[in-house]
Amino acid sequence: MTLSQSDHQRYLRNIILPEIGEKGQQKLLDSKVLVVGAGGLGSAILFYLSACGIGNLGIIDNDQVELSNLQRQIIHNTQDLNKLKITSAREKILALNPNINVTTYQNFADEENLHLIAQNYDLIVDASDNFYTRFTINQICHNLKKPMVYGAVKGFVGQVSVFKSYLANNPCYACFNPNFKDRNFNLPLSEKGILGAVAGNLGTLQAINAIKELLNLDESLVGKILFCDFLKNNFRKVKVTKNHSCKICCDN
Ligand SMILES: [Zn+2]
Repeated sequence: MTLSQSDHQRYLRNIILPEIGEKGQQKLLDSKVLVVGAGGLGSAILFYLSACGIGNLGIIDNDQVELSNLQRQIIHNTQDLNKLKITSAREKILALNPNINVTTYQNFADEENLHLIAQNYDLIVDASDNFYTRFTINQICHNLKKPMVYGAVKGFVGQVSVFKSYLANNPCYACFNPNFKDRNFNLPLSEKGILGAVAGNLGTLQAINAIKELLNLDESLVGKILFCDFLKNNFRKVKVTKNHSCKICCDN
């Protein structure tokens, strides 16, 4: 199947990359990506994934746009106050690229909801702002054998990784962070203060790594975490190994 003339024009700068080409672009157009959270990370992720032509995007979020969100959640604007974030995000994505399919889910990402929704997607991007959701995504991605593109931010720092714990000897998020019952378990991370551009940067890294996973481009972040400190301008890639007593990915 060849790309239409308008798709060829729209995605020309992707297509002339030897790593993508027409074949890679068609693969992106056929891909299904679920983004959990339409906040600070989600804003950058959703803009870049839709612009590059991920053909089917799902968005889960349960919140409405508040004034204090606009400092970083740039997919929403002042006219969107009190709108559902999924509605506002959908409008912006379709204004940018009307040729893709966008499905929205007004849901809290609990285990039951996420299991049902995630099975329709190739890859899940964690753009949540709390540990409960992040551990739920990790569990569901492991169970359903879907890649999880993880990102987290706080203040001036962030981290990004890709988990494929269903493949031999690869860690899951809980291998890296087994302390999820710690205090502040349910406290949204964003309540601790965050610079908007830091969230945008980490979301962009997540979008890049989601695209690379869909196209099988090296080097993958599976088994590694990239730590970013924007105050010190320090970027460090660290290996993460499977924890053989992990309750999520080593239950046998
Ligand atoms: Zn694990």
